[in-house]
This record gives sequence, C-alpha cells and structure tokens, in this order.
Amino acid sequence: MKSILSLFLLLFIIACAPEKQPADLLVKNGTIYTVNDNFDTADALVIKDGKILEIGLKPELELKYNIAKTYDAKGKTVLPGLIDAHAHLFNLGAKLQNVDLVDTQSYAEVLERVSAFQKEKNVAFILGRGWDQNDWEIKEFPTKKELDSLFPETPVALTRIDGHAMITNSKVLEMAGITSETKMDGGEVIVINGEPTGLLVDTPMSLVWNVIPNMTPEVARQALIDAQKICFELGLTTVNDAGLGRETIELIDTMQADGSLAIRIYAMVSNSKSNLDYYLKKGIIKTDRLNVRSVKVYADGALGSRGAALRAPYSDQENHFGAMITPQDSLMKLAKRIAAAGYQMNTHAIGDSANVAVIRAYQEALKGKTDARWKVEHAQILSASEFDKFSKNIIPSVQPTHATSDMYWAEDRVGSERIKGAYAYKTLLDQAGIIALGTDFPVEKVNPMYTFYAAVARKDLKNYPEDGYRMEEALTREEALKGMTIWAAYSNFEEAEKGSMEVGKFADFTILDQDIMTIPADSIPNVKVISTFVNGKEVYSHE
Ligand SMILES: [Zn+2]
Repeated sequence: MKSILSLFLLLFIIACAPEKQPADLLVKNGTIYTVNDNFDTADALVIKDGKILEIGLKPELELKYNIAKTYDAKGKTVLPGLIDAHAHLFNLGAKLQNVDLVDTQSYAEVLERVSAFQKEKNVAFILGRGWDQNDWEIKEFPTKKELDSLFPETPVALTRIDGHAMITNSKVLEMAGITSETKMDGGEVIVINGEPTGLLVDTPMSLVWNVIPNMTPEVARQALIDAQKICFELGLTTVNDAGLGRETIELIDTMQADGSLAIRIYAMVSNSKSNLDYYLKKGIIKTDRLNVRSVKVYADGALGSRGAALRAPYSDQENHFGAMITPQDSLMKLAKRIAAAGYQMNTHAIGDSANVAVIRAYQEALKGKTDARWKVEHAQILSASEFDKFSKNIIPSVQPTHATSDMYWAEDRVGSERIKGAYAYKTLLDQAGIIALGTDFPVEKVNPMYTFYAAVARKDLKNYPEDGYRMEEALTREEALKGMTIWAAYSNFEEAEKGSMEVGKFADFTILDQDIMTIPADSIPNVKVISTFVNGKEVYSHE
C-alpha cells in the first residue's frame, strides 16, 4: 500500500513539474557575441558534453535545465573561441625550451638567466640565444670560465643575437672535439694563452650544431604544453600551425588523445617528400581536436630581407627581384598532386610575382572544383589584376600585425604605386567575401587583441600613425571578429563545429574584461582575457 502511494506521488510530480533536461554548465550574464549569420547577441548559454545545447536569454534557460554548474560572466564579453589562422605553435613552444638572452644588460645577467632556466627545466643540453655584448657595460666577449664553474657537466651553448657567434662551456668543446688547434675557413675558435675561450665565430659553430641532440619527445611535449598555455591565456582555442612534420603531428594527436593537450590544432603538413608521400596517400585526418588536410608550401621569401619575389625590381635595390623558393612549374605539379588527394594547398606568397604564380597554379589545379578552399598565406603584395581571383575557393589568409610591423619600410621596398596592393585586407575581403586572420607567431606577438586592433585601427601599439595606416584597407570590428572566428573556421572546413556560438557547436569561448565591439579603438590592445573555455571546460582563468 505504502509503495503504491509513493508511486502515485512520483507520477504526480512527474506530471506536474516541467521536465528538466540535464546540462553540465550554464554561462549567464554575458554579452555573448554569437557570430551567427545575424550577428546576434545573447546573454546565456547551456552546455552539455562539450557542446552548446542552447543559447539565448537566461531566465528561460535556467528554468528549462537541470544545471550542474553555473558560471556568472558578470556582464563581461563572451566571444566564440578565437582562432589563429596562421601561426607556428610548436615553434613558439620550442623557443621556450631555450634560454632567451635578448636584452641582457651584462654577462652576469646572462648567467643568471641560464641558471634560472636550468633550475626550472633541467635539460640535458642548455641552448640559449640573443645576447649582445654591445648592450653590456663591459663590451667584451664572454669566456667559458663562469659557465664552467656553474655547469661543469652539462653542455651549454649560447648564440649571439645575430647568430654569428656562440659562447660555449668546456663540456661542449669536448663533445664537439674543438681544441686550440681547430682551424676552419670562414670562422674562428678564439684562443687566449693557448686555450680556447669558449667563443666560436661562424663556421666552427657547425661542429657544435652537429653534437646537439635532436629534441627528445619529452622536450617536444613540454614545448606544446608551454605554447598551449600562452594561447589559452590570450583566448585562443584553435591554432592553425603553418607547417609541421609527421613526428610532431603524431605527437599532437597522442597528447590530445591522452588529455595532455586540449587546444584544437589545424596542422598544415610541411612540404617535404616524406610528409607528402605519407599524408596524401593516407588522406584527411580529422578528430575533434586535430585536423590534417592541408599542405604548407613556400612560394617565395620575405619582404624585409628582400626575398619576396616581385614582378619588377625592388624600389630600393636595383635589378633585384627577390626569388621564388618553389618555382612556377613545381607549384603547378604540386597543386595537381594535392588537389588529387583532396587536400588543401596553403601557400606562403608575399611578393606580387609569387602571388601571380600561386593563383595561376591554384586556378589550373582547381578546374571544376568549387569548394576546395585553398589558401594564399599572407597574400601580401598583389597586382591590381589579382584581387578578383580570390573567392571562397581561393581564400586570403592574412596577418594584420604584419601591416603595422612593416608599414615603416614596406613602401621603400615596393614604391608608392605597388604599395596600394599591399596589406590590402579590405579589398581582399570585398573580393573573396571571406578573409582568415592570424599572426604568424612567434614572428609576431601571440595576442589576438593586437590582430583585432591592427585590423580595425591599423596602428602599432604606440597608436602610430594617429589616423591609422591606409585606413581604406581597415576592416570593421564585425569583419575582424569574423576573420578570427567563423571565417577562419570556414577556411579550415570547420564552420559546422566552431567559429560561432550556435547549438551543436563545440563550447569553445573566450571571456574578455571589456567589450571589443564598443570600446574606443585605442583601448583594444589592453583588453584582457578573463577566462578561456574549450569543450565546455575552463582551460584558463585570470584569477
Ligand atoms: Zn608562417
């Protein structure tokens, strides 16, 4: 009798109470820029199993779900997880496995930094870079004496800022077989009182490079973890790594699977014979966190060093055109091979000549293909005739901070006419209907707020120039945000799973302390990330 009664009671409760669905997390009181087709805002979202279950207004959401946990965004700005469409994540981390000696004020400071580094990392071979004795009070080359007393057993090699000299300890000299007798053309082993001082200039440095062990898997793991930490602190949830080898891609996959790496990575395969033989045969590799479906190719070099391939000579160097790294016929062959495999081709093209060659190869290889989404990485200097060749099938992937880093000297290189087709992001967007934004870090800073600022204000971090650099090429804030979210996702064939806050997509989002869509433009670089979420989990918190 008693059990029948309680059964009745239970049925009564079920019948009367509205049925509440279970959910893992409610984020409320946010200014959520959904970046959906209408560019709607919302104030709350509900997450279950790492995906967005519903997005909208808080009161109705709170009533509808049985929520395990609530996050109060306290009126802050919530954006879809930011994507860097062109960066070098692994390189960023690898750099952190070496001692940074840039801006040291004395040799004592160099030794301090090396000791602090080793205390933290305890590596088998200490490598550092960036010292410059001209910055020091005593402007003399250092010797190995102090390094030897600090590190009698651990090899240490510290390269000068220009890469043309290196100070080493005795352990390194011993490993490399360098003695006072070592003589090499094009360089010198500095010897005082019949003994090498540890300083090597140019060619003998190669003897040291020969004995530096390959990066161990442990160090490579640490590199990825360190790089991920920086990205999460700055609100990035997906990074496109522009060129990785098989070993690193497989390590990323392993770490993502075992839970030690949470960031999502679109890994472009570096253009080498072994990589291409392997991946183009294997086909697309896609997990929730890893996307391998593209090849990174270099068409030419960089503008600063006059390596970018131009159609007419450089304006500041007579008869100099720069050079193609991959010539037109090779680009064409490569493009056909990549197209046949169903991969994307993402080609670094800086100079107008390189861009012509790349676009020509793309058009030829993509005949009859309308949704290949091949990318021109940088698309930096374009002839007027090339803009209308960009589309959702041939997508510009650009780095707005390149414009504000290069603006001081770019016109010297190309002159006042060609500069009109350079860093022309608005024109590219108008033609293509889409543009993917990135940084190229660690060449540039990682902070996506700098990308947003450079795209909309076209100024450097000192607010120069006052009225912006060639503002006719500025993007609106809405366009810049799309370039860092939904358009970047689209360029990766990932728009169905990320890039906007919509039902069914990954719960990847970034919470900022200020509203980048409304604050004065010059405040944008100072905007801080409060929280970063990947798959509904908080991976960074400011507190
Ligand atoms: Zn790059």
